[in-house]
Amino acid sequence: MGIPPASKDVLIIGGGGAGLTAALYTSRAKLSTLLLEKLTPGGQIALTDLVENYPGFPEGVTGTDISQRMEEQAKRYGTEVVYEEAAGIEKKNGIFQVKALDKTFQARAVIVASGASYRNLGVPKERELTGRGVSYCATCDGAFFKGKELVVVGGGDSAMQEGLFLTRFATKITVVHRRDKLRASPLLQERALHHPQMKFIWDTVVTEVLGEKKVEGVRLKHVKNGKAQDFKTDGVFVFVGHDPNTGFLKGLVELDGKGYVKTSEGLKTNVPGIFACGEVRSGAVKQLVACCGEGCEAALAAQAYLENQE
Ligand code: NAP
Repeated sequence: MGIPPASKDVLIIGGGGAGLTAALYTSRAKLSTLLLEKLTPGGQIALTDLVENYPGFPEGVTGTDISQRMEEQAKRYGTEVVYEEAAGIEKKNGIFQVKALDKTFQARAVIVASGASYRNLGVPKERELTGRGVSYCATCDGAFFKGKELVVVGGGDSAMQEGLFLTRFATKITVVHRRDKLRASPLLQERALHHPQMKFIWDTVVTEVLGEKKVEGVRLKHVKNGKAQDFKTDGVFVFVGHDPNTGFLKGLVELDGKGYVKTSEGLKTNVPGIFACGEVRSGAVKQLVACCGEGCEAALAAQAYLENQE
């Protein structure tokens, strides 16, 4: 007995670079494709000011521009985009049932490209003062800090890139990093370390955000000598990495110790018919160009899987 007809051939969860590229490939292969995105097309890239390392754009391209173009390109070949968040997946009679808030979508194959979300510091007052000086998105909130002084937490590419972006608005950016070496790529490090508006506090963590109605400062602790100090600031931008968006897969798809999806050759998960690509995948290179490449690979694997089912 063949597989009963489902509403779509392929359902893609996540509309970042990986998901949108997968959608482009499956829809161009004439597979009916539905893409679920919880927020905005482009995922994390849409929140990035300028993408300078995607081939073909020697002057760089804004995160919003490339995201909208990728969505437009996938839709042009028939991808249907629905703004819903996946809450769970089940397989019934050979068909995947993907549950969203109040709807269930059906498909013969699923590509998980749900990416990762920014990590919180988990310190007192961080949550209460989010939107009142605590932020995780420089392109969204940077303009509110014209002429102000800011703290950026983290030592990776995001902290350096977004910190540099914030120098357009704030007069001074103090980067607080828990080690004495940055994790960011050499080019971004060099730019940040030499920028006259950027200062660095090394070997230090934020232990509390200070302020009542809005951020007034941060409490810092030196990790080597334990010394605490209060540091005045108008805002805190947190860029301390990401956690995978895989809550909806628990109990179904095999995850690694950090919650990323494990895959084998062809970006297959342990569940036949479910593929994973991009930042959500264990071992992925977290760069837009690599995520797009994985989206292509997952789409071709899904296509081969569906052809074998027929
Ligand atoms: P990341 O590379 O994981 O860096 C996170 C930074 O936050 C690290 O410096 C880490 O310190 C620090 N950190 C982690 N937890 C912390 C905590 N609880 N308290 C204080 N500090 C903490 O994350 P990311 O910068 O968001 O980058 C994610 C991925 O996207 C990376 O693969 C990156 O290369 C990529 N990316 C690329 C670009 C680009 O190519 N232009 C731009 C943005 C992001 P340690 O260094 O001590 O671990």
